[in-house]
Amino acid sequence: MSSSGKPELPVPLTNLKIQYTKIFINNEWHNSVSGKTFPVINPATEEKICEVEEGDKEDIDKAVKAARQAFQIGSPWRTMDASERGNLINKLADLIERDRLLLAVNTGVNDGGKLFSNAYLMDLEGCIKTLRYCAGWLTRSRGVHTSWRQRWKLFTYTRHEPIGVCGQIIPWNFPLVMLIWKIGPALSCGNTVVLKPAEQTPLTAASCGIFNKRGRVPPGVVNIVPGYGPTAGAAISSHMDVDKVAFTGSTEVGKMIKKAAGESNLKRVTLELGGKSPCIVFADADLDNAVEFAHQGVFYHQGQCCIAASRLFVEESIYDEFLRRSIERAKKYVLGNPLTPGVNQGPQIDKEQYNKILDLIESGKKEGAKLECGGGPWGNKGYFIQPTVFSNVTDEMRIAKEEIFGPVQQIMKFKSLDDVIKRANNTLYGLSAGIFTKDLDKAITVSSALQSGTVWVNCYSVVSAQCPFGGFKMSGNGRELGEYGFHEYTEVKTVTMKISQKNS
Ligand code: NAP
Ligand code: MG
Repeated sequence: MSSSGKPELPVPLTNLKIQYTKIFINNEWHNSVSGKTFPVINPATEEKICEVEEGDKEDIDKAVKAARQAFQIGSPWRTMDASERGNLINKLADLIERDRLLLAVNTGVNDGGKLFSNAYLMDLEGCIKTLRYCAGWLTRSRGVHTSWRQRWKLFTYTRHEPIGVCGQIIPWNFPLVMLIWKIGPALSCGNTVVLKPAEQTPLTAASCGIFNKRGRVPPGVVNIVPGYGPTAGAAISSHMDVDKVAFTGSTEVGKMIKKAAGESNLKRVTLELGGKSPCIVFADADLDNAVEFAHQGVFYHQGQCCIAASRLFVEESIYDEFLRRSIERAKKYVLGNPLTPGVNQGPQIDKEQYNKILDLIESGKKEGAKLECGGGPWGNKGYFIQPTVFSNVTDEMRIAKEEIFGPVQQIMKFKSLDDVIKRANNTLYGLSAGIFTKDLDKAITVSSALQSGTVWVNCYSVVSAQCPFGGFKMSGNGRELGEYGFHEYTEVKTVTMKISQKNS
């Protein structure tokens, strides 16, 4: 610990031996039924790290059977006292805390191009706190006594029960955080889980399997099946014996998942999808603060965040100065291997995303936006893209409409409050938004008017276990974390009893 109480950044482990590459079912490691494996690539070097077992429908079936078995009435998991379940989740947090350094390297640094410092200081911190929050919540979750109808002598109460087997499909941008956001609340509410990590970053999830075993979570409660979306992922969303599916990723795949759920057993669905989040800077804002948050809001983790502030609206009178400072800030990056100290921008996740981002940058140039810095690839190997800033961006341009998921900032000009609210809401998405102003009245007016699951005022990208997270419109359905997040993992049962005693 440093004197400020924050953990200090240790030296990253290099040449880490990959230990876990298999499918985790019933607290045991399995090979894929098909015998197939798939390669995991380091996006900084384009070299293969290892091969991982490729789960498909048969492996998902095995995992669902194990999860169903663990969920049977009378099973060790179903009969476990709530505080004991809380202890188990706290134990998972302890194990993750103990192996923080190892996990930080595995947490999408090697396979996901994530900066070691971000993984160690931000992702791991968030995961440990989320698990502890989930462990604490479950002892407080309770049903209520709703009515005592005297005349008919009826007594009614409600119970919060687990839903059952939860399928969980996660993306590659926050491999450990997404895993914890999914399994923490699911376990807290007493469900069992079959989780599919993203094809690009299966290593974190595999190494997390072992914590369940070491933490004595009963077999079958957490099952992890690496594999591809159209095969293993689709097998989860269309499975007749999966009771709920929770998904984070693209809007396109979110639609497929909802459709598959509807066409199979109408399982419950929660979706956390993409965004094209507006960030609005008024002329009275603290400029240094606004420039830095707006910058971090879009460049953090190479722009690969669903909440990326990728439509930046700046009031006309401060536009030029804001732009000057934003360009200066973007030029400060040191690109390179995410394990190398001092590097503050790593590679994009894979060739497909890299090409998509470069194509969008080209569209910005062609459609008349002014390229202020960056604008192309960087280096001889790895999927690196220069930090890029565009000015004179207008609302119809592709870079102002489509999710880029890359280190590209669009700076637009606005004249009036009414105009900027309309423009900010003129999108299919509604995940998050930022407002920068010292005027409280303006902050409340605009935050109420924005169609967005989260609004940050004079800050950006602040997420914590206590705060519900999710989107309006095509950014998703349902919420994760906070009290609302737990409701997504429970069924409510109403029990009404007739009391026969005359004098009751
Ligand atoms: P994606 O395809 O939506 O991937 C997310 C997860 O869904 C992965 O585990 C993926 O498996 C799985 N999946 C894919 N097709 C599926 C299907 N038919 N049924 C069930 N599961 C399926 O996202 P992506 O291709 O990695 O990225 C594309 C775009 O999505 C990005 O450019 C970005 O705009 C957006 N995105 C958003 C988030 C977010 O945090 N909201 C995160 C990542 C990406 P595979 O491993 O085989 O892909
Ligand atoms: Mg994909």
